[in-house]
Amino acid sequence: MKIGFIGLGTMGLPMARCLAQQGYDLRGWDVNPASLAQFDQAAASIEQLASDCEVFITMLPEAEHVLAVVDQVLENSLRSGCLFVDCSTIDVDSTRALAARLTAQDHGFVDAPVSGGREAAEQGALSFMLGGTATDVDRARPLLEAMGNKLVEFGAAGSGQAAKACHNMICGITALGVCESFALADALGLDLQRFFELCRGAAAQSWILENRCPVSGPAPAAPASNGYAPGFAARLMAKDLGLAQQAATAAGQATEFGAEAARRFAEFATGDNGDLDFSAIYRSIRE
Ligand code: NAD
Repeated sequence: MKIGFIGLGTMGLPMARCLAQQGYDLRGWDVNPASLAQFDQAAASIEQLASDCEVFITMLPEAEHVLAVVDQVLENSLRSGCLFVDCSTIDVDSTRALAARLTAQDHGFVDAPVSGGREAAEQGALSFMLGGTATDVDRARPLLEAMGNKLVEFGAAGSGQAAKACHNMICGITALGVCESFALADALGLDLQRFFELCRGAAAQSWILENRCPVSGPAPAAPASNGYAPGFAARLMAKDLGLAQQAATAAGQATEFGAEAARRFAEFATGDNGDLDFSAIYRSIRE
């Protein structure tokens, strides 16, 4: 089984390296020559990768990139019954349409967006949220297990992206709650180290609080204690909250806190702020 891995950026490069280290036969591709040069098993062109491989894994920024890459791959004479696994975070509707198109051509498709940043990708410790038929998911499973340690199946194609949108909506809303509470604690003159210790052992505990405490000091490994270096960039949080709103509109479900979180992160993530960790939004709250 030859694998083509397309998109060797922040996440894709360490994911592809994980697969290579575990003995998978793969070729990588990226439009950016600098990214391509960092991967030992680079393909000469996407055409070469398309004709050599039968499994295609994509880890690309947005839906438009995924659709363009799949178009490019399909322009070549592929083997029958290829499998496409999209690990990018994109919208549910584009994913469903892509799955239908590939299925109509007798190819398999799994949406497998991830939770966990670059560190988790380097350690092969990502969480995957999966959508696709049981047959396609079973085919993708060993590859995903090589890159992650948690795989959760949600059902039909698109449901992995739906789970990712809902998951990140919790993260965005929680982040605002944590930031606002720390801002009030600071304004009231509380010792923030003690407040952090209280919260982490009490009902206010959360992954966001523990790992993305928004003020410098209490959590030494958190981005806030390191100049807000990501972490998870604010522009990606804004993007994911926008995808959650798209999904909410399509499903006819009101998500008022999610909408507010999407608005606040979109406003914050313009310009240089976009590259900071999302917890830096604290600065726009405690002014
Ligand atoms: P990135 O921008 O670092 O990497 C994307 C790569 O895709 C780049 O190297 C780019 O050159 C390449 N690319 C773009 N268009 C292409 C094309 N047409 N053909 C070939 N290559 C192309 O992005 P990333 O941080 O690796 O994120 C990838 C996806 O994973 C995004 O959807 C993001 O939302 C999601 N994600 C990221 C993180 C994170 O912490 N960075 C965490 C979870 C999920």
